[in-house]
Amino acid sequence: MTGVPLTQAGGLVLELVVAINVNRASLSEIDGAIGDGDHGVNMSKGFTRAGAALGASPPPLPQALSTLSDSLFEGIGGSMGPLYGSLFSAMAETLDGAETLDAPLCGRMLRAGLDAVGEIGSAKPGDKTMLDALAPAADAFDAAQREGKSFADCLDAMAAAAERGRDATRDMVARVGRASRLGERSRGVVDAGASSCCLILQTIATGVKRRLEATAGAAVAGQETRNTSTLASK
Ligand code: ADP
Ligand code: MG
Repeated sequence: MTGVPLTQAGGLVLELVVAINVNRASLSEIDGAIGDGDHGVNMSKGFTRAGAALGASPPPLPQALSTLSDSLFEGIGGSMGPLYGSLFSAMAETLDGAETLDAPLCGRMLRAGLDAVGEIGSAKPGDKTMLDALAPAADAFDAAQREGKSFADCLDAMAAAAERGRDATRDMVARVGRASRLGERSRGVVDAGASSCCLILQTIATGVKRRLEATAGAAVAGQETRNTSTLASK
């Protein structure tokens, strides 16, 4: 089964911290169009806190995701702390006790995150929120898995669907959150939370794929070393 050892994947959370910080200004700018312009600043506050708590040598992925969740609950004001805090704590819980992140586990992790956000925020796909990136991404991952695609291809399908979902929020009217006060005037720009969620899912896809390649490379190298030593002993 192709997968990534969870002990080697905690750094994925540090990659999320970097991605949010690099995009801090643009996420706030997107929020400024129909919100109060603080989304990048809010996210950056919580993610930076997680980066500081994790340090340079992060723990295995479930623990790193738990730390991220705690940091977001504690560090972000507004709606995003509980929403993203719940997303990452549900993901962490799904991984708890496992050793390897493979496609079925990743699918369950995305689904658990989606359910948790829906439960705490009571939004539905189509309401112009982060769910409009997350729900199609989880669905696309599952569909790719059912088609028998490789883990890497499932991740590509997931990231592409998140991007399409983010872009589709442009034509939606916000039905929950701050932007819903604008009614029809919220149409015409993409949603800030869908943008950050898409960024997070793309960063997860890229990071997991890179680790999959590294794991496969290490397995081939190990095989070659074994072959060489077998030859040498003959
Ligand atoms: P605030 O709205 O408090 O200023 P942010 O600007 O950080 O917080 O986040 C705004 C984003 O929160 C929106 O773009 C939307 O995607 C997301 N959001 C708001 N309410 C909900 C909800 N109930 N469920 C899911 N996402 C939500
Ligand atoms: Mg805002």
